[in-house]
Amino acid sequence: MSIQQIASFAAGEWVAPGAGAHRISSAITGAVIAEAGNDALDVQGMLDYARGKGGPALRAMTFHQRARMLKALGQHLNRHKQALYDISFDTGATQSDHLIDIDGGIGTLYVFASKGRREMPDDTIYLDGGVEVLGRTGQFLGQHICTSLQGVAVHINAFNFPVWGMLEKLAPTLLAGVPAIVKPATNSCYVTELAVRLMHESGLLPEGALQLVTGGLGDMLDRLGMQDVVSFTGSAETALMLRSNRNILENSVRFVAEQDSLNASILGPDAVPGTPEFDLFIKEVSREMTVKAGQKCTAIRRILAPEAQVGAVIEALRERLSKVVIGDPRLEGTRMGALVSAGQKADVLAKVALIGAEAERVFGDPENFTVEGADAGAFLPPMLFHCADPDRAERVHDTEAFGPVSTIMGYRDLDHAIDIAKRGQGSLVASLITHDPAVARQVVLGAAAYHGRIYINDRVSMKESTGHGSPLPHMIHGGPGRAGGGEEMGGIRGVMHYMQRTAIQGSPDMLAAIGNKWVPGATEIKGPAHPFTRHYGELAIGETLHSAPRVVSVQDIEHFAEFTGDTFYAHMDEEAAKRNPFFPGRVAHGYLLLSFAAGLFVEPTEGPVLANTGLDSLRFMKPVVPGDSIKVRLTVKQKTPRTEEYGEVRWTVTLTNQNDEQVAEYELLTMNAF
Ligand code: NDP
Repeated sequence: MSIQQIASFAAGEWVAPGAGAHRISSAITGAVIAEAGNDALDVQGMLDYARGKGGPALRAMTFHQRARMLKALGQHLNRHKQALYDISFDTGATQSDHLIDIDGGIGTLYVFASKGRREMPDDTIYLDGGVEVLGRTGQFLGQHICTSLQGVAVHINAFNFPVWGMLEKLAPTLLAGVPAIVKPATNSCYVTELAVRLMHESGLLPEGALQLVTGGLGDMLDRLGMQDVVSFTGSAETALMLRSNRNILENSVRFVAEQDSLNASILGPDAVPGTPEFDLFIKEVSREMTVKAGQKCTAIRRILAPEAQVGAVIEALRERLSKVVIGDPRLEGTRMGALVSAGQKADVLAKVALIGAEAERVFGDPENFTVEGADAGAFLPPMLFHCADPDRAERVHDTEAFGPVSTIMGYRDLDHAIDIAKRGQGSLVASLITHDPAVARQVVLGAAAYHGRIYINDRVSMKESTGHGSPLPHMIHGGPGRAGGGEEMGGIRGVMHYMQRTAIQGSPDMLAAIGNKWVPGATEIKGPAHPFTRHYGELAIGETLHSAPRVVSVQDIEHFAEFTGDTFYAHMDEEAAKRNPFFPGRVAHGYLLLSFAAGLFVEPTEGPVLANTGLDSLRFMKPVVPGDSIKVRLTVKQKTPRTEEYGEVRWTVTLTNQNDEQVAEYELLTMNAF
């Protein structure tokens, strides 16, 4: 069999392996299948190419353009995913593992594509939070903004998810407008290489946006600067070595780390045998032990059960784990494949020996275990340990055996369970299976500070729940302490790791121009016609309509009350209203004011305004009493394209009375034709 040559993609060229290449073996047969790495890779050339070509090209695109590119990349990979499945078996992964890695990775691109278009502007500056009024008269304001870093993101990934591991970092990076150099773990880099080839072949990526290093990075980290980011997933040891690189420390290069984690799963005190929660717990634990042969950063390493239930949990897990078919992942009946390499298997066995000194093995014997026809493969059985004294034990709380290995321990009460969970010294995830909301609150309050994610499941959510071990692009993935102290994804939060937040201070016109968003106090623009007659593209930010005034009468209030049925005393009973500290007497309904406002600003003839899709941030600031007169100011605040045909216009609507005092304010959303 020929040995596959796994190339790097450097400065626009595919570079074949050369001096210093590493050999890669099949997890199933142990045979050498590929080689990767080349000591002569021009690392500086790659950085220059990313910074000089990729960065400017990506920064010239708006968030929406980058988001559309991510979606198209996802669609392209989706059309070619069979090829990725086919070569992934040699990593030891089963078809259902591929779904997590490959389909999960593509799904992550889609989520970031959708969030980029829905939650970010069609612009190159992202506004973080609202305007802060810093001066007495509103002429000096503050606004936090985020702009793309002008360097390169170096992604160093673990072996276990060669596609998802790349895409979960790449999606937020590209959305941020930053080029990436991806360095997958050598053991499974052939899968990543194919995914990168596919993405390049799609023609969707600007030149320099994505490069690939298979094999070693050389001295790349010594050449990074303050505009660059390193995002790492792997072992705590490697993370420590890389993040203490002098150049990284000297230049405050951002270093996001996701590393070892001794995740716990807690069986709630209420989830006794016979409840749906008990069965769910057994299912979740055995699944987390066996998916990807336990090589998951989020896998359950510590199983916490009430002392009285430990025996029942061990029995139920034994029964379930004994049914897991282990073998060649290419065979249809196989439920659990191999570890990625013989080296990884040896590492797991060494860690198992450490755990075994403190805990008794109650299921799975690696000595008496064979997989038919795959003797040379990196196979292991699931191994369950029981630690009788979790308070005195240490290794079970700090040793991550990165394979199908988990330890069960009993807890006395919920506080004890929380203490044991915290012994992980910072974890990516803890799960809690309970049907009792009070238990959920107690665990969250006690343990959340030690965890990046807490997953709670019960009979209500179990059908829709995504699993203890699945990081989702919407939610953050990462954890404090031992887990690395980093954070990835979490929707748009994840994009911010690749952008610089800057506090901008200045006059309203400065802020409006920078953010492409009208702010109170900024210049109002008088348009050539009523704004409702103007198409999306014609409307200018700040374009303003001032309505005529309208007097609000007692008859108006009574008519509205009878018509809608809202006869609340504050509108109908002068004496009762007077007893209320908020009102001088009978007042107009807030909803009446909104309706009058629409009547005052609307242009009724058919035109480019297609729909009113809602209003935000409504505030009633001052009561309107019979005889008051109201008028409206309608200003174009922000515009966001939504489809090829129409875009969303966000208007600031301000209602004032005859004394120019604000009585109400809100943001109106309309869809306007282009
Ligand atoms: P490593 O920490 O050994 O490697 C992670 C990544 O770092 C790989 O891409 C590796 O590349 C790279 N790397 C290693 N040394 C350097 C270096 N000097 N300069 C630049 N890059 C470097 O982790 P593995 O993926 O091999 O997994 C080993 C252990 O890590 C597992 O047994 C497990 O305990 C832990 N792990 C934890 C995860 C988590 O998120 N909790 C996820 C995956 C692993 P290369 O492969 O070429 O050496």
